[in-house]
Amino acid sequence: AVIIRTLDLEKRYGEGEAATYALRGVDSTIHRSEFIAVMGPSGSGKSTYFNMIGALDSPSKGRILIDEVDVAQLSATELAFLRCRKIGYIFQQYNLIRYMTALENVTVPMAFAGVTPEDARARGMELLGLVGLADRWDHRPIEMSGGQQQRVAIARSMCNKPRILLADEPTANLDLKTGQAILEILQKINKERGVTVVCSTHDHRLLNICDRIMWIRDGRVERVEERKDLTIKL
Ligand code: ADP
Ligand code: ADP
Repeated sequence: AVIIRTLDLEKRYGEGEAATYALRGVDSTIHRSEFIAVMGPSGSGKSTYFNMIGALDSPSKGRILIDEVDVAQLSATELAFLRCRKIGYIFQQYNLIRYMTALENVTVPMAFAGVTPEDARARGMELLGLVGLADRWDHRPIEMSGGQQQRVAIARSMCNKPRILLADEPTANLDLKTGQAILEILQKINKERGVTVVCSTHDHRLLNICDRIMWIRDGRVERVEERKDLTIKL
């Protein structure tokens, strides 16, 4: 089943002579419970694509369907629900609140979703366990490495049980080994919980983990292929 679909998606920044086309004519399909990698050089449109399918920004042209519903047709309340409950977001920067502990960072979005403090705490600890940081629950960001902070960000992204996880360059600031560990956590979430994962990178290591690869260049989808059919050598 298809969970995200884009039709003739276009994103233009600026007008006339000064216009930049960050995306053009992007038709794409993401299936439920798959792990898809979005690959492409810096400036190719990956972040823009994420902002579109994450309903964080509107296209200049074209449509985005999530669960076959056109995002442009959603009310403000439905859009807020989509962003808070249906989609989890992970970015290059971890965006943790620096005066809060790991557990507090993970439980913040649950308070907004109306979860009781006791349930939030239990679920927060369970998610810190999932990312291998249960013993660091009371550490603040400054006491953690980049990889640990990204793991807290992953736990936070999962707290309202999203069905889609969007990870935009999650390993960009990490060394090889730490980055690989982050990708393995995303793989575990995908395989064990059936969460659809869309992860961008310019790092070919990711190709060992995903099901399909979407290659983006100059704002267009160059090709989409199954990992098992990969033509390039890793
Ligand atoms: P990537 O994530 O692959 O590095 P981006 O989606 O960030 O690519 O950018 C695609 C293109 O759109 C680039 O040329 C970038 O400079 C341009 N771009 C992105 N965001 C903006 C913006 N807010 N205003 C103007 N140009 C932008
Ligand atoms: P990345 O390469 O990691 O995707 P960028 O450095 O391209 O990130 O972009 C970081 C932020 O700056 C994004 O939110 C993007 O939309 C914005 N941005 C990128 N290029 C431009 C630009 N030419 N003008 C204004 N904003 C931009």
